[in-house]
Amino acid sequence: MTQETGGFAAFNLNPNILAAVIATGYEEPSAIQQQSIPIIMAGHDMIGQAQTGTGKTAAFALPILHCIDPAKREPQALILAPTRELALQVATAFETYAKQMPGVTVVAVYGGAPMGPQLKAIRNGAQIVVATPGRLCDHLRRDEKVLSTVNHLVLDEADEMLKLGFMDDLEVIFKALPATRQTVLFSATLPQSIRAIAERHLRDPQHVKIQTKTQTVTAIEQAHLLVHADQKTSAVLSLLEVEDFDALIMFVRTKQATLDLASALEAKGYKAAALNGDIAQNQRERVIDSLKDGRLDIVVATDVAARGLDVPRITHVFNVDMPYDPESYVHRIGRTGRAGREGRALLLVTPRERRMLQVIERVTGQKVAEVRLPDAQAVLDARIKKLTNSLSPLVADAESTHGDLLDRLTADIGCTPRALAAALLRKATNAQALTLAAIEKERPLVPNNAPRGDRPERTGDRPDRGDRERRAPVPLAEGRARCRTALGARDGIAAKNLLGAILNEGGLAREAIGRIQVRDSFSLVELPEDGLEKLLTKLKDTRVAGKQLKLRRYRED
Ligand code: AMP
Repeated sequence: MTQETGGFAAFNLNPNILAAVIATGYEEPSAIQQQSIPIIMAGHDMIGQAQTGTGKTAAFALPILHCIDPAKREPQALILAPTRELALQVATAFETYAKQMPGVTVVAVYGGAPMGPQLKAIRNGAQIVVATPGRLCDHLRRDEKVLSTVNHLVLDEADEMLKLGFMDDLEVIFKALPATRQTVLFSATLPQSIRAIAERHLRDPQHVKIQTKTQTVTAIEQAHLLVHADQKTSAVLSLLEVEDFDALIMFVRTKQATLDLASALEAKGYKAAALNGDIAQNQRERVIDSLKDGRLDIVVATDVAARGLDVPRITHVFNVDMPYDPESYVHRIGRTGRAGREGRALLLVTPRERRMLQVIERVTGQKVAEVRLPDAQAVLDARIKKLTNSLSPLVADAESTHGDLLDRLTADIGCTPRALAAALLRKATNAQALTLAAIEKERPLVPNNAPRGDRPERTGDRPDRGDRERRAPVPLAEGRARCRTALGARDGIAAKNLLGAILNEGGLAREAIGRIQVRDSFSLVELPEDGLEKLLTKLKDTRVAGKQLKLRRYRED
């Protein structure tokens, strides 16, 4: 165990949960986790004021998993989430943290999918039920006892549930649960309607709120970019093309992400290295020294590993993953703009994290302007500018040192000086794309428009239930199609099995495959729309874990 995981170890969580957290690569509990985990573990009711991006899911998932009894095959914890997307996300988080707890199963219950398998999974003894309120009420109408064994209830994003008109459904659900249960409510805001729910349904709740002090950040120019989580690496690579940086630090959340991103950057020729809590202290110092003296230009770090890092060369900070709270944002971007110099900070924001951006703006009292990904023209201009900058200092005396050689080579080859200069340029630029068409071609997966939000719009009308839950699909990247297979976790399938099979048999590049979601009884995979039918034919006889994959296009409407 590294020193940094001591933070999680101090909670005295079930060792299997701690091991899964360590395997996930988290180094330290976030502020909301630090405060909530002991309260929930002790069985208290709680109101937590926190939004997406603060680590709130683990703040309730870890202590709830700690409290359940894996030997009992019945629903013990119910998590309510406003949208199907969040329900799936929370279910996946539970599965991750319960990976080393044999016998623990999680079921996601939401509209737009058949009810039968959901009910079957509950009856088969899933201990954790993650549900949208509408669909759960449909189940209760069929079997009012289905929740009678639940002794932990979490309302996640309670304010969003009320905005979507789920108040009546919540009341039905409260009635179907034992009165002795523990209730935990998470909400980004606490309007009167939420406080009224807490008053009626929580018993002596403890309050957890992450205090945010106003902070000032002056000499740093800040911007944000909206991007889907699975396109962060290509977005970072595009941004690097046009940002005029000296040294740069990128912040991500996990150790694995530091390694993955640093190697993606190295593969593109950047002098980059990872900095995380697993790296020995003397090696970390070497990385920082290399950044100081220019042997490295980019360091990809976790917050813990970058603590105290002071390198005046740093002109840019990229927040590739959202910080947990505004203080840590301010702390991160303070790595640039050192010694009175100007710095630039870029924040990547996924659709679900927009609210965190607003909090950061409020706390820092500054607007973080939106930027778009550079288009092909901007990339071309930047590449040509770099080339110009690298060649222009040589022009002054190159003729005196290499002029005669030029004459000789043009004579020997029998070409014009222009043809020879062009050949030398091709060699010097390593066949880098330097025309618009060539640049367009190398950027197939980077959309030029910002992603759509993944939340339903607020409307005054109360939409019908199925519609409400269906309206919030996981956003699909441009040019991708979602496909479904009936193989899921219960067939012993993990995302890496699906990925391996599709890569091997489909002959696709890794980047061509988007998000893979493995549920209990099925899985969803995002594949390129272009050539999809051909690919599905190619995968017709593919088997995974001994079973036929039978991948089909999945239509959500
Ligand atoms: P949430 O606010 O629950 O939506 O979590 C946001 C993201 O932070 C998720 O991708 C989590 O996997 C990640 N996360 C949660 N807690 C930690 C932690 N202590 N260290 C690193 N990453 C975390």
